[in-house]
Amino acid sequence: MNKLLYKQEPSFIRLGVQSERKINIFSGEYMNFISCAKTERLSVDCIAEELKKAGYPELELYNKTVKNIPQKFFVKFFDKNIAAVNLSGKKISEGVNFILSHIDSPRIDLKQNPLIEMSEMAMLKTHYYGGIKKYQWLNTPLALYGVVFTGTGKKVKIAIGDNEKDPVFIIPDIAPHLSHKIQDGKVIKDAVTGEMLNALAGTTYNRGNLKEKDKLKICVLDALNKKYHIREEDLLTAELQLVPAIKPRFSGFDESLIAGYGHDDRACSFASLKAILDSDSEKITRPAICIFYDKEEIGSEGATGAKSKFIEDILFFIMEYSGVSFQSYHLRKVFLKSNAVSADVNTVINPNFPEPYEKQNCSRLGYGVVLTKFTGSGGKYSANDANSEYVSKISAAFNKKRIPWQIGELGKVDEGGGGTIAKYIAEYGCNIVDLGVGVMSMHSPFEIVSKYDLYSTYLAYKSFLAMR
Ligand code: MN
Ligand code: MN
Repeated sequence: MNKLLYKQEPSFIRLGVQSERKINIFSGEYMNFISCAKTERLSVDCIAEELKKAGYPELELYNKTVKNIPQKFFVKFFDKNIAAVNLSGKKISEGVNFILSHIDSPRIDLKQNPLIEMSEMAMLKTHYYGGIKKYQWLNTPLALYGVVFTGTGKKVKIAIGDNEKDPVFIIPDIAPHLSHKIQDGKVIKDAVTGEMLNALAGTTYNRGNLKEKDKLKICVLDALNKKYHIREEDLLTAELQLVPAIKPRFSGFDESLIAGYGHDDRACSFASLKAILDSDSEKITRPAICIFYDKEEIGSEGATGAKSKFIEDILFFIMEYSGVSFQSYHLRKVFLKSNAVSADVNTVINPNFPEPYEKQNCSRLGYGVVLTKFTGSGGKYSANDANSEYVSKISAAFNKKRIPWQIGELGKVDEGGGGTIAKYIAEYGCNIVDLGVGVMSMHSPFEIVSKYDLYSTYLAYKSFLAMR
């Protein structure tokens, strides 16, 4: 082949047969992680646990509880954000290498007053979270997670559905026999509406309460009260989320794929966590910070989204300890010298629906970590478009280590598009580009990634942390 031509190589070939064992171990650890880290709160718990095991103590933001700042530590924010820091003896004034991912995934939230009787059945009313295709979430086993505060202010954690002995929740679809008029002729987005997404909660009641009003609701509340000591009013202020109650599985005869819920973006979150944990402090050239954000799927708004000032809080906190002047001018200087990746997924070509993809520029399953220079839609509108200087610097580091990587674009021009947190961090003036795992059937209850791409992403993040 002509040496001038660019040729893509599948990640399983480039990684080589000698990596096969490591990749399978890594995939197994990842599958354990996404089996537990099903919501942003649970992700924070899982990540905190891993960090503690690796000798990272938890510090409290803006609270100088220790005299000297430890080289490795983590901070939490509202139990929905977490950041791992490894200063590795380097000065923060020389800039930071940031890996920024998100730990929220599309799901079905319960409404604030969710319990209702409909057609003599107890149901849970919902309000979906993030960009889902609603029909995909019907007749799929769902587990319920979240927190409820009782009238006395006690926090109760809810988890029903992932234990084999637990019941699961189902949002029932209509049988094909009866969908002719109400579904079949409609465009998909109108065939199932948000208000139709009610989950079955119960069909029985206390035999002695035949005539009692709300007898089905009372039966559900009795069960909840028995297990969790909560009342209906406590639900009004609760955060309850329905997520797929499906365990991740290897997929394909060759078991090269991993199917599971929440690859977007826990595949990148896990890979970045492992990257910072596995990076020797000698190899880290500058302070490494991995931030795991909430709220990306609904626009990064709110105190725990990437538009918040959490990233500034972390830097100010370190600066205060390091004796660097506590001023926004100095903060900006840190950002200007920093490198960042928005560790988020991109879509890959789907053989069943090839039309919206442009084959030469869209990423493919099994061809390595996806480097997405720009995001946005409709003429790069609302994009973070990383500069060539930075993108080439990153890809050169990958090539040097033979890390499988590919370029990515979110579909054909004018076909659709989307954004990540990259543009919010770019506002600080630091270099940032999207870098993450390619996902098939993104935002579905059971997304697909290649285990080779997942491992390539881990290698890519590790190489990024060693970058100047
Ligand atoms: Mn994402
Ligand atoms: Mn997403």
